[in-house]
Amino acid sequence: QITPAQRLQVLPEQFFAALVAKANARAATGRDVINLGQGNPDLPTPSNVVDSLKAAADKPQYHKYPPFRGFPFLKEAVAKRYKEDYGVDLDPATEVAVLFGGKAGLIEISQCLLNPGDVCLVPDPGYPDYWSGVALAGAEMSFMPLRAENAFLPDYEALPAEAVDKAKLMFLNYPNNPTSAIATPAFYEETVAFARRNHIVVASDFAYGAIGFDGKRPVSFLETPGAKEVGVEFYTLSKTYNMAGWRVGFAIGNAQIVEMINLIQDHMYCSLFGGIQEAAAEALSGSQQSVRDLVATYESRRNALYGALEEIGWKADKPAGSFFCWLPVPEGYTSMSFANLLLEEADVVVAPGTGFGANGEGYVRLGLLTTEDRLREVAARIGRLNLFK
Ligand code: PLP
Repeated sequence: QITPAQRLQVLPEQFFAALVAKANARAATGRDVINLGQGNPDLPTPSNVVDSLKAAADKPQYHKYPPFRGFPFLKEAVAKRYKEDYGVDLDPATEVAVLFGGKAGLIEISQCLLNPGDVCLVPDPGYPDYWSGVALAGAEMSFMPLRAENAFLPDYEALPAEAVDKAKLMFLNYPNNPTSAIATPAFYEETVAFARRNHIVVASDFAYGAIGFDGKRPVSFLETPGAKEVGVEFYTLSKTYNMAGWRVGFAIGNAQIVEMINLIQDHMYCSLFGGIQEAAAEALSGSQQSVRDLVATYESRRNALYGALEEIGWKADKPAGSFFCWLPVPEGYTSMSFANLLLEEADVVVAPGTGFGANGEGYVRLGLLTTEDRLREVAARIGRLNLFK
């Protein structure tokens, strides 16, 4: 009998791993399952990026160990993109760390900053990986409720003083998964003041930073005066360039925190394959037309789905950004019982809101991750259950 360390015993089964297994089991019975549950982009990586990797694979310099902290050209490409998109000045050598996807950094930052007994402020609903990092660090979470009436932004004044006192780290994520809300510059200014006042490091998860609808450009936390003094932003190519499988992300901002993340990574990895780094730099430095096209695609999918949902009587606010729809469940259902009903009666996979925290009760999350026709088919199948009229 092999006993896992106590550290491991605090980890539950990974939420999306469980959801995917459930969807696959259903599909294996031969049914036409439409999976809108996991945030896995269905669009292809831009061809200039794929071509760049193909050419780079032949370069012998990439067949050796890469530099521990990534190639300078990649960090320079990130700094240029931030300057162009957000007007943020970065020193690529000290203010950018290369990560195996944003996810790695979201776990690592808790290892870097939290001791047992410390508190981390976590949005509820929110991305479950934040919890795992905090649990692995042996620290405690205090949830910041995100409510529709407050535009899904946390109300710092309403947080329990004791938790704020013990807090060393907080996670924010806008455009938000799962609620799709976008943050305002004023909210980020309030965040910098709150973080300074209470000596809390801000981890801004900007995974959906490129995806804002109706002409709204999501703001980066680092655009806020003073942001670099209090935190870092996690930036990833997964969603912006449909590169989820490539595993390229960055921690950007406060040099001390970037150094801590680099240090922990020096002991765990030796950075990404050089060919992937070259292709990632091509994604960031080449034409950005694919990003504009991607946002337009998600926006038309959103409009197609919401048009069809309105026809079946399922009314909700349209998402402002990200590619998620945060929809209230009909009366008489919990988020879990409704998600189960959709799987069993409509072969549609959605994520139950409670997978993102207790405040997700009453909602389900749908990803805009298939064609407009298939999204209309989702609405039609749900319509046949006659739940809304
Ligand atoms: N943060 C949020 C809010 C996400 O939804 C995701 C992926 O779904 C990630 C981070 C992880 O991104 P990456 O692929 O860069 O690890």
